[in-house]
This record gives sequence, C-alpha cells and structure tokens, in this order.
Amino acid sequence: MPSRILVAGGAGFIGAHMCALLLERGDEVVCVDNLLTGSAGNVEPLTKRGLTFVEADVARHVPVQGRFDAVINLACPASPADFGPLALEILEVGSRGVANLLEVARASGARFLQASTSEVYGEPAVHPQPESYWGNVNPVGVRSVYDEAKRFGEALTMAYRRRYGLEVRLARIFNTYGPMMRPDDGRVVSNFVTQALKGEPLTVYGDGTQTRSLCYVEDEVRGLLALLDSGCTGPVNVGNDEELTMLELAEMTLELSGSSSPIEFRDRPADDPSQRRPDLTLASTVLGWEATTPVKEGLARTIAWFRGMV
Ligand code: UDP
Repeated sequence: MPSRILVAGGAGFIGAHMCALLLERGDEVVCVDNLLTGSAGNVEPLTKRGLTFVEADVARHVPVQGRFDAVINLACPASPADFGPLALEILEVGSRGVANLLEVARASGARFLQASTSEVYGEPAVHPQPESYWGNVNPVGVRSVYDEAKRFGEALTMAYRRRYGLEVRLARIFNTYGPMMRPDDGRVVSNFVTQALKGEPLTVYGDGTQTRSLCYVEDEVRGLLALLDSGCTGPVNVGNDEELTMLELAEMTLELSGSSSPIEFRDRPADDPSQRRPDLTLASTVLGWEATTPVKEGLARTIAWFRGMV
C-alpha cells in the first residue's frame, strides 16, 4: 500500500536519492529542506513526478499538513568542511530539528527514521565497528558539533520510543558517495573527482594511509528503506565494508578518469579518524540487505556524472 512520507533534508545528496526511490515505489512524498547544503536542482525534476517541496528550516518549524505514515530525517550538513562554518546550524538541526520532526511523527503515529552516522564511533578503538561499540569521540573538538549532535539525536529518538511508544529506526550511515554530491562540498570523493577532471592536483590529507569504506548512494538508500520497512529499531550500520586507504582512492580516481593530475599531500584535519569500516552482520541478517556496487563501479558512475558538472 502506498504511504505518505515526509523526508527532511530531501533536497540534499542522500535525501534526493531517497525521495526518488520512494516515488519510484509509488509513495506520496513531501520533502522539507532549507537548502543550506541541499539544492533545489536536486528536487526540481522530482516535483514533476508528484513530489511536494516545502522550503523550511526544521530547526525552527515544520510547516506541513496532514497525516504521515513515516518521517525520514536526513536533514543535516554532513561534510567535515562544514563543521566549522556551520557549527551552530548543525547543533540546531541535530537537536531542535530532530525534536520538531519527532513531534510531527508523534502527531501522526508515524514511523520515524533518524539518520545517524559512523561518526558516533569517533576515532574507533574497535575495528571493524559493530553497533555495540560505544565509540571514542572528542566531545570538544572541531568534529564534536556533528558527532555529538548525532549522538544526541540517537538519544532523543530512543527517549521518544521509551516515553511515547513511537516506532523508531536508527541508521548509522557510513561514508556515501555518488551523483548529486555537491562538487565543492569538501568531502574526499567530490574533491578527488573534481580535481581529477579539472587536471588539478588531488589533495591527499596526511600520508593517505587513513581508511574509509565507501557506499554507493543507491545501495545506501535501499539499505535505509529496508531498515524503515523492517521490524528492527536499531541502531543498524548501513554502508559498504570495502575498505581502502585515501591514497588508494586517489589512485583509483586517476585511473578511472584517465587524468594525469599529480597527487599533493596536505595537512591532516584535526581528529580525522584513522580507520573506519562497518561490521554489517546486523544489516545482512536482520534487514536481508547488502551493498552490491563495488567501489570501482560506483566511482566510475560518479565520475561520469561529475563530467557534466565541472
Ligand atoms: N580527505 C583527503 N583529501 C580531501 C578530502 C578528504 O585526503 O580532499 C580525507 C580525509 O582526511 C578523511 C577521508 O578523506 O581521512 C574522508 O574524508 P571526508 O571529508 O570525505 O569524510 P569523513 O569520513 O572524514 O567524514
């Protein structure tokens, strides 16, 4: 049966892919976004397919009407490059924003999915990271605005479940990449791909031995929907466990784009986690979902999309 679903942050990178997938399966979608890091261009083609777009900051109010079957909260700037300039906005949307959206869900008796993050694990002392690991976060560092906001979001979501019996889902999203990333958002895939296509040096931070595990966005949103539709509260890691160093990623980007850009080493940002890989046992056993796009294939598709952008 089609559902009516509110997607907060639906004009953002993951949000826009989520809205597209929901429309594809026949759901009615209302997207709310303040376009701080999202883009009207991401949702404009979806309005022609029936999506309703509401421009608003969910940290202030959520001006939507009618009942919802589900509320999916993907609203938050997520690039480490934003953690300084948008520090207060991240804390606002991660606290008041989550609370306002939980209230919308409560008014409808809707299911609520909160997008949390692998950043709750901080600089992980356990590798790969299972959901049972409580993390190692610097509570006052430059990344804390994001990490602690997301940890607070998990706590608030669980408190609503305990107090009001709200049906909630917690997803811990690992590094995600693909079409519709902002070319200048400062994250590693968008940086490397735009640099390679422009013939500029690829900026590897530190010595490039730090690792990430990259999930193609179409796999990611399918995983998030599998969690929403499941009977599992979570938290559940949603990502791909194909781990590579940032130097390997730079080399793969050069190879797939055919670029002859040099690699340049820059200072490593403070508190940059040195390794990250999801333990996906829970996702595969409870959700019956796994990422199916190898990094090489997803990166090639991403490069093809960025060619039209830069
Ligand atoms: N990084 C890099 N060059 C860049 C951007 C990022 O080497 O131009 C590194 C960064 O230091 C980190 C990894 O790539 O170790 C992933 O960074 P990103 O900002 O994409 O996300 P994070 O996983 O840190 O949230």
